Amino acid sequence: MIIAIDGPAGSGKSTIAKELANELDFVYLDTGAMYRLVTLKALNEKISFDSLKNIVDLSENKNNNSDFEIIQNMKKILENLNIDIKKNRFFLDEIDVSDEIRKPVVSENVSNVAKIKQVREKLVGLQRKFSKSKNVILDGRDIGTVVFPNAELKIFLVADAMERAKRRYKELILKNEDITLDEIYKNILERDKIDSTRKESPLVKAQDAFEIDTTFKTIEEVKDDIKSLLRKSAK
Ligand code: C5P
Repeated sequence: MIIAIDGPAGSGKSTIAKELANELDFVYLDTGAMYRLVTLKALNEKISFDSLKNIVDLSENKNNNSDFEIIQNMKKILENLNIDIKKNRFFLDEIDVSDEIRKPVVSENVSNVAKIKQVREKLVGLQRKFSKSKNVILDGRDIGTVVFPNAELKIFLVADAMERAKRRYKELILKNEDITLDEIYKNILERDKIDSTRKESPLVKAQDAFEIDTTFKTIEEVKDDIKSLLRKSAK
């Protein structure tokens, strides 16, 4: 059984999905973390993100020399991609980078990596493989629309953008990140824009998804809403 939880950054997806998975004895897959792993790899490989902004398809013929080089390097990164997830810890080239992938520099660049067609194809393939013959809750942007259009239950979480920024701010301050609420707010708006306007698998609510606005709800309330939808869908 597949439960798909989609929605924008900070809408509560990962907290809710993780807790629900524990309570329902499902496996949890944080697909955003996978896009973050590829972004971290690209940052480590010194890919120019300024140029990457203009690239959405690695099979395009780019005459510009610097773009050509970036396309080749991104292809290499995807071919040799070595990522792993064990007990909700995230590994890149066998190293645990669970904290690194949450850093602001990754959040600032991840949407420009996630809009690339071949990056999505690669990660969607891995997400489907991972979920085979299991009960899985996946959270992301395109789970109910593209990865598992036949998911048994689809949830679309939304929340006011400033509330979402405040949630992220609290998380990052606890990790001693040097960042302001305003910087996070701007990053969230920018990611919302790139994620929902991109050509490949944009962030949209699946027609048959249930939308829950989490702005004024507690985590418990949202989980209860989802559990009651689950009971109804099982009938
Ligand atoms: O969920 P999280 O905020 O960690 O996701 C980071 C980024 O990864 C998103 O802003 C989006 O660009 C990308 N993403 C995606 N599709 C998914 C999950 C995440 O494009 N299924």
